[in-house]
Amino acid sequence: MGITTVLDLVTHYPRRYIDRTHQAEIRDLKVGEEALVLAKVKRVVSRRTRQRRAMVEVDVFDGSSYLHCVFFNQPWRAKQLTEGAEAVFFGKVEAFRGRRQMTNPVVDLVGNRTGRIVPVYPQSEKAGLTTWELGEWVEECLTRAKDFADPLPGGWLDRLDVVDRTFAFNQIHNPESMEASRAARQRLVLDELLRMQLALVMRKRRIEREAKGIRHRTGGELVRRFHAALAFELTGAQRRAIAEIGRDLEGPHPMHRLLQGDVGSGKTLVAVTALLTAVQGGYQGAFMAPTEVLAEQHGLAVASMLGDLAVPDEATLTGDRPLRTALLTNRTTAAERVRLLAGLADGTVDLLIGTHALLEEKVAFRALGVVVIDEQHRFGVEQRAALRGKGEDADVLVMTATPIPRTAAMTVYGDLDVTVLDELPPGRTPVVTRWLKGGELEQSEAYARVSDEVRDGRQAYVVCPLVEESDKIQARSAKAEYERLAAEVWPSLRLGLLHGQMPSKDKEAAMAAFRAGELDVLVATTVIEVGVDVPNATVMIIQDADRFGVAQLHQLRGRVGRGADRSYCYLLGEATTAESEERLGAIERTTDGFELAEVDLDIRGEGTILGARQKGRSDLKLASLRRDREWVVRAREVAFEIVDADPLLGDHPLLREELRLLMDPDEAEFLFKS
Ligand code: ADP
Ligand code: MG
Repeated sequence: MGITTVLDLVTHYPRRYIDRTHQAEIRDLKVGEEALVLAKVKRVVSRRTRQRRAMVEVDVFDGSSYLHCVFFNQPWRAKQLTEGAEAVFFGKVEAFRGRRQMTNPVVDLVGNRTGRIVPVYPQSEKAGLTTWELGEWVEECLTRAKDFADPLPGGWLDRLDVVDRTFAFNQIHNPESMEASRAARQRLVLDELLRMQLALVMRKRRIEREAKGIRHRTGGELVRRFHAALAFELTGAQRRAIAEIGRDLEGPHPMHRLLQGDVGSGKTLVAVTALLTAVQGGYQGAFMAPTEVLAEQHGLAVASMLGDLAVPDEATLTGDRPLRTALLTNRTTAAERVRLLAGLADGTVDLLIGTHALLEEKVAFRALGVVVIDEQHRFGVEQRAALRGKGEDADVLVMTATPIPRTAAMTVYGDLDVTVLDELPPGRTPVVTRWLKGGELEQSEAYARVSDEVRDGRQAYVVCPLVEESDKIQARSAKAEYERLAAEVWPSLRLGLLHGQMPSKDKEAAMAAFRAGELDVLVATTVIEVGVDVPNATVMIIQDADRFGVAQLHQLRGRVGRGADRSYCYLLGEATTAESEERLGAIERTTDGFELAEVDLDIRGEGTILGARQKGRSDLKLASLRRDREWVVRAREVAFEIVDADPLLGDHPLLREELRLLMDPDEAEFLFKS
């Protein structure tokens, strides 16, 4: 089972407990309820159903009455549950032909274990190990080990109100009460999270100590003029973010900051401010976006925001020259590329905006000062590192509109500082969201809304999950939907089509036409999900909405409600699962990205958020980023306090030893280096 040491054994924690104080008697079982019973196997019959499925029927008796258990496709149960074996059966009580029955109950053989609360260990059928054998060995280890060293410095036990290690290890394996098992778990969870946070915090502090960055000067003329030329006032949140980023830029260490702001909160402006701070001081800026559509849009937005700003240049008569921005995507022509690369190399291109084309080896800057990565979750770790590598000391700002729950920000993004834009520009009203289940009739409300808004000079999106009609998946394709809507629903409106498989120039043309107001309705796939900014669009219809996740729906909806006008979002289609019911309900209920992120975390669990980086590499055996979210926060606070007082854990030999022993070497690279 991969258990080779005493440590492996004592950290092989019970999967759950059988609480005999909550055990039911078979006589009292009620149909429809879940129940746990301890009973003896009386009779076992193996056979096959008419569909040739293996079926094992087991009658069990607990002294009060009989219960019938049926197992499908588990022929090995006949060997496991031999006559006379004692086991705990957990499942839903059904009535079948007048008898009470459980179908495929969870079974735990308990053997001759006594005690009121019995731990059930993850066991291995293959190795032929049972939960009680494991339990006995663990108990033996605990008896011999006696007291455990406790690496958590004294005062913390009281401050955090957690139990000591000896209690924790003993009670998690052999709890006196369920309450004691919970207290034990809490302590061990804290230990796991603390190790992780110590590793992250130590690395963070080390980078701050060692890496030397550019000391940019803020408050220059360029940024001042840029802000003065804007048609609107900065929001308070934008000011705060700019100030916070400014401190990083001025500071002696390279910035590693995540700018998190809900869709429409105005991140681009903050990013451009950071880029211009670099340009003011003679450095260059790079702005990378995940799609061509978005990069081109940023190109346009930046060009219009910057107007005719000039940058200082000693070599000219006037002492300045026009700011030069360039766009690099896969559509950039060979000739343009040559010019652009030359400009980057001699420093006359101040700002480079583009897609992952920026990462190519030939793209070399004279002096890269600030890097901005938009919608960072769309890029892999390597891609982000590659861009960072183009300017050794460059300050890096990554941005995301996909809210990252606080706990995840502290773990997966533990090496990033976080700034949150928690305020939308004034005048925005929350998007009115309606989930229209049912058929044509219900959907006509959405169609009528589009017609009304277009009549008032506004525009609309219709989003479809797939490009082509597929037999397998009953989802409306953008193409088919485009044709149907044009012919049957809005014959007099101007419709356009946009999907990822179109040639770049057609995509660009469709976006340009929509932006220019030459199209009323844009029928699109999720290519419009990120960043598309057309404030005049006020309605969005999302077809087969249950095929999208929470984050995706929230992103999509963010394409409307970007101007001062009231906007609408219609989710069409039934929920196909309880989970999608919850998802669509949440989207309809709230437009708060952070609330939705929490809902998403609840629905999906943390596996998807942790991702490949952490999975299996850290030693999180008990801790759950979802269940234990407040403990992540606490562990991080403890880690900062400890590390800031004792950067290399010289005064905390036990903690240091434990990190060395338990952390993945890559995660704990600092320990081996120091
Ligand atoms: P996101 O954070 O989603 O990337 P954008 O930067 O695209 O948001 O900004 C959304 C829209 O809000 C843009 O049209 C932008 O010009 C506008 N905007 C940004 N800041 C402000 C502000 N302070 N006041 C009014 N409008 C703003
Ligand atoms: Mg954006």
